[in-house]
Amino acid sequence: MIKYAISACLCGFNCKYNGKNNLNAKCQRLLEMNEAIIICPEVMGGLNIPRKPCEINGHRIINIDGKDCSKEYYDGALMALEYIKKFKDIDTIILKEKSPSCGVKYIYDGTFSKTLIKGSGITTSLLKEQGYKVISEEDLDEL
Ligand code: SF4
Repeated sequence: MIKYAISACLCGFNCKYNGKNNLNAKCQRLLEMNEAIIICPEVMGGLNIPRKPCEINGHRIINIDGKDCSKEYYDGALMALEYIKKFKDIDTIILKEKSPSCGVKYIYDGTFSKTLIKGSGITTSLLKEQGYKVISEEDLDEL
């Protein structure tokens, strides 16, 4: 039974901005056991691999060259939500901490200075608004 949606990069897919992944053995195991689907909101929203890093600045998402990528981020969040809604037994979503899409408790502050602030990524916020339980890979012991 599919009970989880997980950030694809946590399952070993090379969809990070730099073309790499954030492999987490527990997440990969859930996928292998057919208990999870994967999402990558940034790719679903039309961004390329690799791509320039982005950070949230107010309600906009700006890349390191100053380009506004908000549309791709909000589109990707909506697409991830619509995909997850197809699986009625999903009760927990596991997303990558600190990402401007997937961050759960922390995101970067928009200055590209590696400064973390409390906050959630664009997709995380939407999923929480829709009533889903969202945790990060740092909270997997909760499962
Ligand atoms: Fe991973 Fe989420 Fe970034 Fe995709 S958008 S690479 S799933 S953190």
